[in-house]
Amino acid sequence: MPLSPLGTPRSAAATTALMLGSGELGKEVVIELQRLGVETVAVDRYADAPAMQVAHRSHVIDMQDADALRALLREERPDVVIPEIEAIATGVLAELEAAQEWPLRVAPTAHATVLTMNREGIRRLAAEELGLPTSPYAFVESLAELEAAAADLGWPVVVKPVMSSSGKGQSLVRTPEDVAAAWEYAQTGGRGTQTTRCIVEGFVAFDTEITMLTVRHSGGTFFLDPVHHLQKDGDYCESWQDPTDGSALAPAVVAAAQDVAKKVTDALGGYGLFGVELFLAGEDVIFSEVSPRPHDTGLVTLVSQDVSEFGLHARAVLGLPVAATRLPGAAASWPVKVSGHGVPSFDGLADAYAVDPSVQVRLFGKPRVEGERRVAVALARGATTEEARANAEAAANALTVTLT
Ligand code: AMP
Repeated sequence: MPLSPLGTPRSAAATTALMLGSGELGKEVVIELQRLGVETVAVDRYADAPAMQVAHRSHVIDMQDADALRALLREERPDVVIPEIEAIATGVLAELEAAQEWPLRVAPTAHATVLTMNREGIRRLAAEELGLPTSPYAFVESLAELEAAAADLGWPVVVKPVMSSSGKGQSLVRTPEDVAAAWEYAQTGGRGTQTTRCIVEGFVAFDTEITMLTVRHSGGTFFLDPVHHLQKDGDYCESWQDPTDGSALAPAVVAAAQDVAKKVTDALGGYGLFGVELFLAGEDVIFSEVSPRPHDTGLVTLVSQDVSEFGLHARAVLGLPVAATRLPGAAASWPVKVSGHGVPSFDGLADAYAVDPSVQVRLFGKPRVEGERRVAVALARGATTEEARANAEAAANALTVTLT
């Protein structure tokens, strides 16, 4: 059902969307919602987060605090809640979606946010219920269990806290001597406060990895062209989409990837865009994980097609049909990360734009950096994948970030 009619912001009849998480991805979603006259509320655990800077209003709360989240949602009574991150008291979303104290929708569904906030929920759904191919895996709660599971799975293994993302607490363990350090690291990297339950996965020697951006919408399921990406320490450092002539991946592999994506997104249900992460090894498509929201590797869609993943998500969660057209050629994204402490300022933009007329830059407006943070992204197109990637890399390298 579409959320219709769409109201006018700041009027009694406004259609209201509340973002849980207000980073750079949420900022783009808010901009798209604003274009449809939706009243937007941005929430995060710190002030002046990127999406807060473009939303009608904002709130700073601990989104993992169930009482605080429940109170805020009751105060705002949004038409739709759009989670942007995993670290949310998702039980509250399920409770309020079920109670319908007011007509509340969670994008794509509260069930999807509950299942995907924990690697265990989604892995068991994909592998055990849907029978999708995944890496071999086990769940462990102590060093001894980890040692036994790793010996069973065979070396190397990948260890990840079940409640984690972006490589936090994740390590590749090559030998039995390294297991203790991996366990220690996992204990520091999860989101919980007690002993961190981990998933141990057999290492998949994939040829390439892709995100299959998949939109469930009122007119059916829509697949974007595969987004290839490279990861470093569990965090993406480059992504691209091949030329529109489809020359890069065999049609059978794309069809198999779409099949896996359809099965897992149908099981999660609702309306919205999902990032389905897949490993490709020869003809095999191996499911890795899924996020029920726009994906960081999908930033590339800001320059690869007429409606980005953010615009598609906004439309789908409002119950509207979606469609998008790829622009000619290939496209690439290259995130700009900075380490240290302070408020970022940016130089070299003119040089970045001089790399190629297709270059676009997004400066996220993050108020402060403490440690390592992604603060911008360079985007570019090219006739070939190599050209697009080289353009994005050169544009990113032209930017200089100073922290003061
Ligand atoms: P994740 O947080 O699960 O998406 O993992 C981040 C990245 O680590 C993935 O995109 C892969 O590049 C790598 N990775 C994770 N699990 C495995 C695995 N079982 N085998 C090989 N590489 C992996």
